[in-house]
Amino acid sequence: MAMLGAKSNSTYLHSAPVVSDTYWGQFDEISKYNVSLNYFERLWLTWYTFMQNDVLATGIMSFVMHEVVYFGRSLPWIIIDCIPYFRKYKIQHAKIPTAKEQWQCALLVLLSHFTVELPQIWLFHPMAQYFGLSTTVPFPPLHKIIYQICIFFVLEDTWHYWTHRAMHCGFLYKNIHKIHHQYSAPFGLAAEYASPLEVMMLGLGTVGSPILWCAITGDLHILTMYLWIVCRLFQAIDAHSGYEFPWSLHHVLPFWAGAEHHDEHHERFIGNYASSFRWWDYFLDTEAGPEASKRRRERALAKKAKEAKKAQ
Ligand SMILES: [Zn+2]
Ligand SMILES: [Zn+2]
Repeated sequence: MAMLGAKSNSTYLHSAPVVSDTYWGQFDEISKYNVSLNYFERLWLTWYTFMQNDVLATGIMSFVMHEVVYFGRSLPWIIIDCIPYFRKYKIQHAKIPTAKEQWQCALLVLLSHFTVELPQIWLFHPMAQYFGLSTTVPFPPLHKIIYQICIFFVLEDTWHYWTHRAMHCGFLYKNIHKIHHQYSAPFGLAAEYASPLEVMMLGLGTVGSPILWCAITGDLHILTMYLWIVCRLFQAIDAHSGYEFPWSLHHVLPFWAGAEHHDEHHERFIGNYASSFRWWDYFLDTEAGPEASKRRRERALAKKAKEAKKAQ
């Protein structure tokens, strides 16, 4: 049974002798005919075959993935907030979120997921097909998935920096971004606590970056897109965690933003606008915090001294 190279997963439905009604029954049959596929590829193929509706298959998969990753990644931070041992790593020591605060935040995020994001996720498959994203098996090689995700991180960070910076201007801040700044000491669950308009505007960087890449190169698998969104969710939740550890990633990668960077943004409301990296804030002199202010003052003094010397 030639499945590989089929244009759509649904093509398989007409050509394969799938007789079982259950997911695992179909998995066994697909496994018989597609021995060259790995376990995950067979799971993937069975899902699309079982659903018999690509839009629904992609929509349900992406919505469930989003919920599982969002709340699954937030859970360890909720637990850490309950353990006094970790207080020494809390960036804003005195501001431990209460259970009530976390609960209210989770409810609003959940409401926004069901009202704002669910319909968008439903449009995901038609949009992916329009821009030529592949949904077939086999999956792309790992090195390709990794380098494409690195590119999306850079693109999203750029979009995030400028959009987020613009959102700190009077009108946009008052009417849209203020909601996200309700917590001056953020916690994991607060990553997507924001106005629906903000979710859409900033989300455009997350979804638009791979779409732009696919429109230019014509080479993107929807699995890479999923893994990118998982990485981006981890980044956003961890950046809001409120904890800075000696083993935090930015100690290894100095240009990685991390929690310290974004916590300072929530505490001071000004500066540190980027999401994943520190370079935009560094080069455009929008870094937040007392150290950055000190550096700025020193630079201004040095410039003045230089000018005075020139004038003499
Ligand atoms: Zn902000
Ligand atoms: Zn934030």
